Amino acid sequence: MGSSVRLKDVTHVYVNKQGATLALEGINFTLKDGEFVSIVGPSGCGKTTLLSIMAGLFKPADGKVEVNGALLEGPSPHIGYMLQQDYLFPWRTIWDNALLGLELRKAITPESKEYTLHLLEEMGLADTLQRYPSQLSGGMRQRVALVRTLAVKPDILLLDEPFSALDYQTKLQLEDLVAMTLKKHGKTAVLVTHDISEAIAMSDRIIILDRNPGRTRREVAVPEAIRNESPFLAREAEGFHPLFHTIWQEFEAIEKDAVERKGGPGP
Ligand code: ADP
Ligand code: MG
Repeated sequence: MGSSVRLKDVTHVYVNKQGATLALEGINFTLKDGEFVSIVGPSGCGKTTLLSIMAGLFKPADGKVEVNGALLEGPSPHIGYMLQQDYLFPWRTIWDNALLGLELRKAITPESKEYTLHLLEEMGLADTLQRYPSQLSGGMRQRVALVRTLAVKPDILLLDEPFSALDYQTKLQLEDLVAMTLKKHGKTAVLVTHDISEAIAMSDRIIILDRNPGRTRREVAVPEAIRNESPFLAREAEGFHPLFHTIWQEFEAIEKDAVERKGGPGP
């Protein structure tokens, strides 16, 4: 079945005692079946807010999200959400952690267990089933978290900076593994990251968010020469560096605009 996500004029305001923060304003985009889109932007520009809205965790103040043509009104079985922190339960074995999503959905069957085992094997975790999270490295724990997310067979994956707490080498290895796994299983994905290289290396399209309020500043398509390579090799593909430079300049312009809005850098 094809999967699609459509955001229409998504706007969000946080209200608390200190006042109101316009976190997102008028976000529009459509995610096609099998597409991998990255959302990049400086810290605080609304990336996590946007992903939480797409996950159905809360409703936008204005606008709407449609998943496979239907209005999203809460968490959906079509959508898997993976965070920077792995949130594995320390008292559960890796196997029991991997099954958690299925358990919560009362979807444990011989077939779903078989599929989870298959994913764990694919992720190189076959030897860890009876171990506990504290006995695993950060990269292994993120792989378990990914298996847990994939085990319930979502069509669409939302990834919020899933590699940012990892050391550089582990991050590069995991980027390749995740890209390969998602492609093989035909998933549609949104990756939120502040790492420009990662966004270019992993995605088909990049949405750059502006800050205060978070708006779409620019959208760039990743050229085929880069998309055809694994994330690791993509970094050496033709066109990678010019694209990096383009997005980098956009980030600098966002900073500059922010300073100007505040009335200059001061005396
Ligand atoms: P990012 O993930 O890009 O760093 P966030 O989506 O976390 O950005 O935050 C966007 C803006 O909304 C920031 O200004 C942040 O301070 C504000 N914000 C985020 N969560 C809350 C909240 N629960 N209450 C009030 N303001 C919030
Ligand atoms: Mg965030």
